[in-house]
Amino acid sequence: MGIDAYIDEIKSRLDIVDVVSQYVPLKQVGRNYRGLCPFHVERTPSFTVSPEKQIFYCFGCGVGGDVIKFLQLIEGVEFSEALEKAAEMAGVDISKVPSGEGTGSDKKKRLKKIHAILAKAFASFLKSSLGEEARKYLKGRGISPLWWETFKLGFAPSGVDLAAMLLNRGFSRDDLVSSGVFTYKNGNFVSKFKNRVIIPITDHNGDVIAFGGRVIGEGEPKYLNSPETPIFRKGKVLFGYHLAREAVRKNGRVILVEGYMDVISMHVAGFSETVASLGTAFTVEQAKRISLITQNVYILYDGDDAGRKAAFRASRAFYAVGVEPKIVQLPQGMDPDDFVKVHGTEELGRLIEEASTPVDLLLEAGKVGSMSKRDVAKRVFELLEDTKDPLVVDSVLSYVSERLSIPFEDLRNSFFGKKRNVVKKAQESADQKGAWERKLIVELLKRQDLWDRYKGRISPEIFSDGDVAFVVGRLLEGVSLQDLASQLDGERLKIVAEVLFEESGDSEELETLLHRLDRKIAYWELERIKRKVLELQSRGASKEEYAPLVSEYMAKLREVKSLGGGAA
Ligand SMILES: [Zn+2]
Repeated sequence: MGIDAYIDEIKSRLDIVDVVSQYVPLKQVGRNYRGLCPFHVERTPSFTVSPEKQIFYCFGCGVGGDVIKFLQLIEGVEFSEALEKAAEMAGVDISKVPSGEGTGSDKKKRLKKIHAILAKAFASFLKSSLGEEARKYLKGRGISPLWWETFKLGFAPSGVDLAAMLLNRGFSRDDLVSSGVFTYKNGNFVSKFKNRVIIPITDHNGDVIAFGGRVIGEGEPKYLNSPETPIFRKGKVLFGYHLAREAVRKNGRVILVEGYMDVISMHVAGFSETVASLGTAFTVEQAKRISLITQNVYILYDGDDAGRKAAFRASRAFYAVGVEPKIVQLPQGMDPDDFVKVHGTEELGRLIEEASTPVDLLLEAGKVGSMSKRDVAKRVFELLEDTKDPLVVDSVLSYVSERLSIPFEDLRNSFFGKKRNVVKKAQESADQKGAWERKLIVELLKRQDLWDRYKGRISPEIFSDGDVAFVVGRLLEGVSLQDLASQLDGERLKIVAEVLFEESGDSEELETLLHRLDRKIAYWELERIKRKVLELQSRGASKEEYAPLVSEYMAKLREVKSLGGGAA
């Protein structure tokens, strides 16, 4: 079975409404289902699922596609992984995935297998005589054996040949190098993790995909992580996510800390709704993942300059996904673990409850005079830099304008700046120009008879709106609307979604639109004939050769004039 047939088989066995309902509560409205979009923040549902067409579309943020695209987005995985997930849901044998397409995912499976085997080995070393120092270290941090299991903690001794074990089990040299755990030097595999406590890093399903290692005693670096590999992308993973997910749902909030040791300490202290980014800057992608399970975010970074700066940077990623986070302020020089040891968990709980939004922290700094009004506004602008949702910008700026007694419009204008306004205006007028073409094509496609009547006469070039032209081009090639819905995104997807979801507009407007289209087609044909005549003339053709074209041109021109109106 080819990959396309395989995909079709999976899709035919799934109902998109069932699948989406597992993530998003849906309500039937007419022929479709609606719910609050899981991909952007909204209060009224614009996320629509069509059981007839087996596609989804959000009229708010413009995402859409078929069931596999949905799984891809909601699970934050690549196409091949979403397909596997869909196959599982549909009860289709995964081993039937045609090879060739499957090789990338086979490699990933082998790498995950290597990590699972190594994690088990490390865990048993921790319990063995080799692991005595590591056990002492964990005990010193208050991490009891109960937590070893939860976090799959382990110990990597030096002088144990793990590479040989893996090669014996049939993994290739290439697999070992790609795992990121080993380097190959002078014919030998050397493990990067030696004499370290091992903290396995898991993906959002709990599978081990990388390792972190804390050195025992003195040694550099103190913390060592796996490099990025085909299964480990730092900006994507949240440490502790699969363990925290339930608690986040139950407690209605998430606590974000800086590193994996912080996560473990927080779970031990009873805050099991805690996750961390991994050593790198917190990304918008990670913020988006968190926003899917809660809008209530507490950033708990170290109480030093670096920690405070990083907390503001992380806030920026949250504003970008429409979430206003709160920043918990630890005393100077303390990390979460220090704080619990000195003040206890209850006190930490209180500190978290009292956290302020980054905007309030800035306003506070302005009030006590350590920052000028202008600097406060500038820092607020920085926080909103990556935010695309104008509603989020407006709500934050209107709050700030009140507090700082600066007129809202002034604040807003200086945020968007002159340059952006110019770009926006140009964009708006271009949108206006193409607006009627979009309306027309949507109406045309909704009515099979109209589409049949026109499809022989139109071509992509006659449309000045590039997205309309693109969609028309694909349809004329014979691609179906439904297939387009799962292939496109952005403005192009919007056009297709409007055809598939919206009811027909009023017919009076349709008359006007069709009239405009007729004129456009006629003008375009005129242009075409004119170009042909000019071309023949430039090649020195005789009058007899192009005379028929000229009379065709004249006839067309009369036709166009009878259609009335100005130039299209
Ligand atoms: Zn949306």
